[in-house]
Amino acid sequence: MSTYRAVQAVSPGRLELTQKTLQAPDPGKVRIRVEACGVCHSDAATVEGSFPIDWPRVPGHEVIGRIDALGSGVQGWAVGQRVGVGFLGGACGYCASCRSGDLVNCQNQEFSGIHHDGGYAEVMIAKASGLISVPDELSSVEAAPLLCAGLTTFSALRNSPAKAGDLVAVLGIGGLGHLAVQYARHMGFEVVAIARGRDKAELAKQLGAHHYIDSVASDPATALQALGGAKVILVTAAGGKSTAAAFKGLRAGGISIVVGVGSDPIEVSDTDLIFGGRHLAGALTGDPATGDATLRFSALSGVSAMIEKFPLEDAVSAYERMKSGKARFRIVLTMS
Ligand SMILES: [Zn+2]
Ligand SMILES: [Zn+2]
Repeated sequence: MSTYRAVQAVSPGRLELTQKTLQAPDPGKVRIRVEACGVCHSDAATVEGSFPIDWPRVPGHEVIGRIDALGSGVQGWAVGQRVGVGFLGGACGYCASCRSGDLVNCQNQEFSGIHHDGGYAEVMIAKASGLISVPDELSSVEAAPLLCAGLTTFSALRNSPAKAGDLVAVLGIGGLGHLAVQYARHMGFEVVAIARGRDKAELAKQLGAHHYIDSVASDPATALQALGGAKVILVTAAGGKSTAAAFKGLRAGGISIVVGVGSDPIEVSDTDLIFGGRHLAGALTGDPATGDATLRFSALSGVSAMIEKFPLEDAVSAYERMKSGKARFRIVLTMS
């Protein structure tokens, strides 16, 4: 096989199926036969061109596949091994962030599907330093959405100051939130799910939430304080207003961690920050070791994404469905 199928963005909002020529991996990289790739809301950065993109570009940063070729100098990975590739394309190992152990904020890190071609394809080339190990217990389809939606929420909760028994709120029950509720429950927190309306109440309980707050019917901050105040609010839904509305629901020393990207600013008053010493922070996905832990923890605990599958050739429909917000909750492309 000298060519492979890929779906690439060619101009803002336009994806098309194409054939690409098989390349050998450069030094430090591996070539992967892709088995599954999640469709993430952040793929819009590529398809709509909100990041500076050199078109054509293949999106996709929730990629699971098997290594079929190793570039020179790659150690620790083998041909035939199943691996994952997330949003962060692999740390450089020599910048100031890397040298201080902060691989997430590597200053020379490329983003998968943005700076180089991603996983909406039968083949992808990836940097070995960004690879994630995939446990046998997870199918490729199951594992794919855990590489971005899963890793992002797992890493934020795992690195948060919450301890077993603490009240942890998840704001928004969607692609990220439905995983966050499960992780929070399995990490031993008292879990509050917050969403608009009653529609998600039953689902939130099934996912493991102990409490549900309808942010339309009641003020989320007051409701959280009635439960004792949250140690952590994980903001998975895009929206500065809802983030600000819940913020006063933090107990003293609590932290709101934003992982969902919205366009409107978060307006939090200085007195709400100062009195109670509350924190407002962001978190960007996670490093490869935390990616390994996300997949292992998911396999051990049974945390899983609700998935709709589409074949690669239907990537346009899959992308449109993701954009519509109607997917329940993650879409995964499969390569036959
Ligand atoms: Zn993503
Ligand atoms: Zn670096």
